[in-house]
Amino acid sequence: MRKKIVAGNWKMNLDYNEGLALFSEITNMIKDEITGAQEAVVCSPFIHLHSLVQMAKGYSKVSVGAQNAHQAESGAYTGEISAKMIKSVGATYVILGHSERRQYFGETNELLAKKADTALANGLKPIFCIGETLAERDAEIHFGVIKDQLEDGVFHLDAAQFAQLVIAYEPVWAIGTGLTATAPQAQEIHAFIRAEIAAKYGQQLADDTTILYGGSCNAKNAPELFSEKDIDGGLIGGASLKSRDFVDILK
Ligand code: PGA
Repeated sequence: MRKKIVAGNWKMNLDYNEGLALFSEITNMIKDEITGAQEAVVCSPFIHLHSLVQMAKGYSKVSVGAQNAHQAESGAYTGEISAKMIKSVGATYVILGHSERRQYFGETNELLAKKADTALANGLKPIFCIGETLAERDAEIHFGVIKDQLEDGVFHLDAAQFAQLVIAYEPVWAIGTGLTATAPQAQEIHAFIRAEIAAKYGQQLADDTTILYGGSCNAKNAPELFSEKDIDGGLIGGASLKSRDFVDILK
């Protein structure tokens, strides 16, 4: 059975104390309100990671992740952070291939394939983001774009490695815009992604893969989106910065 996950992506928000305060609210609410088997993942800036991991001890439903990691193991890459460093503070997840990284930092599928290898080699679980731009959807090439992102980004992995991944479908036109994909629109792509995984790795692994939806997901639209059969939770940006909204989505 695949896991249901709601992951928060704080992006470049919250100073150290603000991040700790928000995380403390979230863990307290989860303790009191969440009874099911959902997993919450908070992907914070690097500066919060160590403290959040310490604070998350004792909360079995809460995990901590980073938002990026370098593809090299170590070396002369001033200003960068390695997967091993992230793992060493106890974080378990790392977002890879977010559309903002692809757009503003030129991250390609080929680079992301290397990042996935290095993250996995260091025991991190990638939350691997894919999704089309509005121009690509309008040109009706979105299925091809997503297929390429899977094939060039993660389909070189063997089945045991692939089983460590979470996939996040995030249509770029829905991120931070208030424009959510409709539930049927998202379901169509999630089903396509699962079918591609099945064709590559077999139905069992496809059925076991958690596929999240991201893009203006909030407490209001989450119930409808998450009721679709191939949508296993969400990757939440803006709404993960308010404890009430984030925990309501989790609920
Ligand atoms: P959003 O961001 O929820 O603010 O649209 C989602 C994301 O970028 O992961």
